[in-house]
Parts: sequence; structure tokens; C-alpha cells
Amino acid sequence: MDKCPICKEEKKSKNYCKACKTVFVCPNQNCGADIGKKDVDTCPRCGLLLKDYLDSHKMYRQCPKCKKKQGLSEPQCKSCKYWFNCPSCGHKVPSTSMLTCPRCATSLR
Ligand SMILES: [Zn+2]
Ligand SMILES: [Zn+2]
Ligand SMILES: [Zn+2]
Ligand SMILES: [Zn+2]
Repeated sequence: MDKCPICKEEKKSKNYCKACKTVFVCPNQNCGADIGKKDVDTCPRCGLLLKDYLDSHKMYRQCPKCKKKQGLSEPQCKSCKYWFNCPSCGHKVPSTSMLTCPRCATSLR
């Protein structure tokens, strides 16, 4: 088993260290962004809430518009209907003010 480069405890998973609550690689299979720092709350690429993942292995993200938690696999916020990803092409929608997908121009309303 590898040792955690931050706290030197043995790592039970290659994605994260439970002892010091550091995520090394985003556990979202579709993302896999390198994180590797302590006290990072959300994945900078896909928005996964890393604390919830460490505590309960649940994959949530926070809606940037209404701030409610949603399952990471949901393409759209259930509360405010904000699209996290384009319903047609799956492109990440970078801003809450976007009305169309920047890649394929699908309406996001
Ligand atoms: Zn550690
Ligand atoms: Zn991620
Ligand atoms: Zn929302
Ligand atoms: Zn699109």
C-alpha cells in the first residue's frame, strides 16, 4: 500500500486519504481531475463536494444558482431547473446566466 504524501498514513484508496481528508484524484469517473491538496471543498473541474464524498461516499454537487445539493449524476437542478450540463451534448455549462449551450446552442431554459 502506498503512503499518503501529506500525513504519511497508509492510503486505503488511491483516490483519497481518509486519515487527513485529502482527495488526490477526483473520484468522479467522468472527471478524474488531480486535486492533491488538503482542505479543498469541491473539485475544480466537475464541482463534486469532496467533504460529502469523504464522509459518506455520496457524490453531490452544489447548484451554483440555488445552492441546493444535487446528485452528481443529475444533469439538471431539481429545484431551480439550472442545467449543470447541456442536455444534448453534455458540455459543462460554465455560468448560471447562459441561456444556450456554448458548444451546440441547445436552449437551456
Ligand atoms: Zn493523509
Ligand atoms: Zn471532479
Ligand atoms: Zn438549483
Ligand atoms: Zn450542448
